[in-house]
Amino acid sequence: MSIYEELGVRTIINVSGASTRVSGPLMPPEVAEAMVRASQESVSMMELQAVASEKISEVTGAEAGYIISGASAGLTLGTATILAGMDPGRMDRLPDTTGMKNEFIIAREHRNGYDHAIRLAGAKFVEIGMNEIVSGAGVRRTEAWEYEAAITPQTAGIAYTVTPDSEPPLEQVVEVAHRHGLPVLVDAAGELPPISNLRKFIGMGADLVAFSGGKSIRGPQSSGILCGRRDLIASAAVQHLDMDEFFDIWDPPESLIPKGMLTGIPRHGIGRGFKVGKEEIVGLLTALRMFADGEYAAETEQQRGLLEYIADGLSGLPVQPRIILPAGEGYPMLHLIINSQTVGKSGFEVSKELKSGDPGIFVNEKGLPEDTLIVHPMNLNQSRTEIMTRRLREVLG
Ligand SMILES: *Cc1c(COP(=O)(O)O)cnc(C)c1O
Repeated sequence: MSIYEELGVRTIINVSGASTRVSGPLMPPEVAEAMVRASQESVSMMELQAVASEKISEVTGAEAGYIISGASAGLTLGTATILAGMDPGRMDRLPDTTGMKNEFIIAREHRNGYDHAIRLAGAKFVEIGMNEIVSGAGVRRTEAWEYEAAITPQTAGIAYTVTPDSEPPLEQVVEVAHRHGLPVLVDAAGELPPISNLRKFIGMGADLVAFSGGKSIRGPQSSGILCGRRDLIASAAVQHLDMDEFFDIWDPPESLIPKGMLTGIPRHGIGRGFKVGKEEIVGLLTALRMFADGEYAAETEQQRGLLEYIADGLSGLPVQPRIILPAGEGYPMLHLIINSQTVGKSGFEVSKELKSGDPGIFVNEKGLPEDTLIVHPMNLNQSRTEIMTRRLREVLG
């Protein structure tokens, strides 16, 4: 009996991707097994994080790294490190930033719901640029000079959300920032694959980069990576670890927290609520190694086969299947364009019916306004694919 049956919770087929609300990716058995093994012995969390830092360094090229409870937590903690540095008094005061530099410059077109995580640490946004293309009133995107024009003595850093077509180019923003001695914090939560992105943004000079552990890396849902400058990662560790310690005998690994940079230690920091267990840390490190070694890339062909099975299984129905292959590394995707007139249901109605059925099928809903169901193959196997095809035939037939 499945553990969810025991609890009386229905299981669902998550073909929406790594979304948190539908419990993210299924972890590879190796990752789940590593977590169980991690749960059977005790460690010093500082020492475990110091080893994690080295392993994250190896795959990202960053000076140091840290494991937190998600990319969102990484953004809050990253902001806190920029605001407080190694000053224990400031660490204790956050998110109250009275008397500190607290402005973060951000392009309007980079703003999104996740930037709440940056504001949470006490940062105040200074918005630049326009969303002219979306508003239909212009042709230009945000430009690097606009960052420079917004810098004041109160500026603490720059927040940048990276996507394959984010503007202005990250290198240009880094150039402006570093000329003014300002750090750049990059939200790269969902920018994997390609594997090369693990190194790309650090390589472009970003000071801190946050990745999700519970998206395409397929680590625990409640895990993420913050990587970047060693001094900033040290501050992140101090603001995240359990700090109920006697300073005189506190002995953090020098590679993670150079003790000489501190005059004392703060009490529990702003990151304390983003606790990660040893199980998440070990699970994420296992998944990160598999992802970085390209072990997931071999599944693309099989995923394409599963999507073709669904597409073929819908023949004769008023739906037009289209398989979109990734340009480089990535997932093949299936778009099901519904002829809503013939079906008598809109994309929204079909998705709602699929979700509430047994088993519930949760597609990616981005295409619903165009009556398109988007199927992400990350969590599919043969039996789920067959069940899903049968259910789609029922709902669309
Ligand atoms: C998913 C996502 C996040 C949040 O990541 P978690 O690991 O779930 O905390 C932040 N920013 C962007 C752009 C994302 O796509």
